[in-house]
Amino acid sequence: MKTRLLTKLDIEAAAAILRGGGLLGIPTETVYGLGADGLNTPAVRRIFEAKGRPQDNPLILHIPEASWLERYCRNIPAAAYTLAERFWPGPLTMILRRRENVPNAVTCGLNTVGMRCPAHPVTLEIIRAAGTPVAAPSGNRSGRPSPTCAAHMLEDMDGRIDAIVDGGSCGVGVESTIIDLTSSVPRLLRPGGLPLEALREALGEVAVDRAVLSPLPAGEKPKAPGMKYRHYAPKAPVTVVTGKSRRTARYIRKKMGEHTGVICFDEFAGAFPGCAVEAIGAAADPAEQARRVFDALRAFDGTDVTEIFAQCPGDAGLGLAVANRLKKAAGFQVVDLGEAAP
Ligand code: AMP
Ligand code: MG
Repeated sequence: MKTRLLTKLDIEAAAAILRGGGLLGIPTETVYGLGADGLNTPAVRRIFEAKGRPQDNPLILHIPEASWLERYCRNIPAAAYTLAERFWPGPLTMILRRRENVPNAVTCGLNTVGMRCPAHPVTLEIIRAAGTPVAAPSGNRSGRPSPTCAAHMLEDMDGRIDAIVDGGSCGVGVESTIIDLTSSVPRLLRPGGLPLEALREALGEVAVDRAVLSPLPAGEKPKAPGMKYRHYAPKAPVTVVTGKSRRTARYIRKKMGEHTGVICFDEFAGAFPGCAVEAIGAAADPAEQARRVFDALRAFDGTDVTEIFAQCPGDAGLGLAVANRLKKAAGFQVVDLGEAAP
């Protein structure tokens, strides 16, 4: 299959691919997604094949506005509308009880479904033109860093999907925040582009699922099935170093060798002579780090780097999502020097 590159002007062609059961790369504000008609079971199955995605990892349904929630969800709590009003379109996925018309292929048999309204004008237009909710996970091959531009998605998906719509670089850079609204206390299942603080401000109490902060004990099932997989991994193994940034830089300098790659804050870009260095933003700017973290993880592939060390932000704001992606890329191989960055 030849993978076509479409532009933001090709709305009709893109919608036709979805309506015809094809696979389409779509730009969103978080990362590029791999979309298919979310009501078409064979099309949804093709997403899993193209990604090499495990069969028990459900997909998120993308809709153009909150009024579509009723079509696919039931027992929708008031909190869902509060959040939609404040944060949609935007990087927030809500887990809600699903209706029967949502295929098992999307939810992997769960009685809940993840719903999101992405903040990208081109993709919103495509979904409206297709007239169907779009099931879409991130547009990478399973286990790889998520793509934040069309070229990165093409690296992973060329020949496997019908087309990619080039909508420019993603402004947020990490995936959506996932909140489960089916339990009595709303629960954060995955930190992402919308900070936990914003959810707490809107809803009051929000619990944080254990899988967000650490690997689960063997045999324990996370509520977001995707959280159990090693994710976002570049080809070389990653070690994350947490603590005050000056201390983590010193630690990495001591450990570095000839084929070491370093992911660091801008302030330390010159501190690792002889190493391949990817700076991801100032220590105090986790929003910029979120935009650049996946590019940095990808950048070492195809180089002679055999090990990667990464400085890690603290948990405030988007730092929680950046730290989570780095730790997952490292398979939770973390050296903790105490006290959070900066
Ligand atoms: P991705 O789009 O690649 O970021 O993957 C979607 C994420 O949403 C995965 O971590 C899934 O496990 C999670 N997810 C999707 N649907 C549900 C659901 N019904 N309940 C819990 N987690 C979900
Ligand atoms: Mg993904």
